[in-house]
Amino acid sequence: MEGFLRFLVAKAILLALASSFVSCYDPSPLQDFCVAVDDASGVFVNGKFCKDPKYVKAEDFFTSGLNIAGNTINRVGSNVTNVNVDKIPGLNTLGVSLVRIDFAPGGQNPPHTHPRATEILVVVEGTLLVGFVTSNQDNNRLFSKVLYPGDVFVFPIGMIHFQVNVGRTNAVAFAGLGSQNPGTITIADAVFGSKPSIMPEILAKAFQLDVNVVKYLEARFSSNYDRHY
Ligand code: MN
Repeated sequence: MEGFLRFLVAKAILLALASSFVSCYDPSPLQDFCVAVDDASGVFVNGKFCKDPKYVKAEDFFTSGLNIAGNTINRVGSNVTNVNVDKIPGLNTLGVSLVRIDFAPGGQNPPHTHPRATEILVVVEGTLLVGFVTSNQDNNRLFSKVLYPGDVFVFPIGMIHFQVNVGRTNAVAFAGLGSQNPGTITIADAVFGSKPSIMPEILAKAFQLDVNVVKYLEARFSSNYDRHY
């Protein structure tokens, strides 16, 4: 009888361990959503299909052109060059990516958030004022700093953050992100430029603005506004 009890306890421990392993292996989403299908037409598994390893070559892990400045002639005066899994297929499932950000004097990378990645940024040229805002539970505190060449700053996953060129010259920064496909939600684009538009009365109350101001913003952001990443 004692042996049987011991067997039951051991079985319970194994079951508990097994279920914790299952939750450990539940992958973070690598796309904005993944609508389940129960037939063979489902195509996206963990971001992308995998290439047969015997056909993999060095070029699958390579890209170039990060020495070239992006075009900052746009409404916000900045440009983001993405190096993610769409540029380097070999990044699939590896959990990292890279960006180059160019800023005209006075230009900014407007408030945005990456739903799937922490960002670590290094300034290589110019002067940037950067910052992020913590969650509601943390009272929406702003952590902000002026950065010079060689300075590094971290934007934790999910936090709304921004960078502004406060110098007299162009500025350049590179940033690593903890996802092969970090995603970007630019706050103004998402809120005022959604398609279709969110009802102006809703945003007027949410942002405590006159409804005509909201209509103006929605017209501006839903027109051929140069989208930002
Ligand atoms: Mn960012």
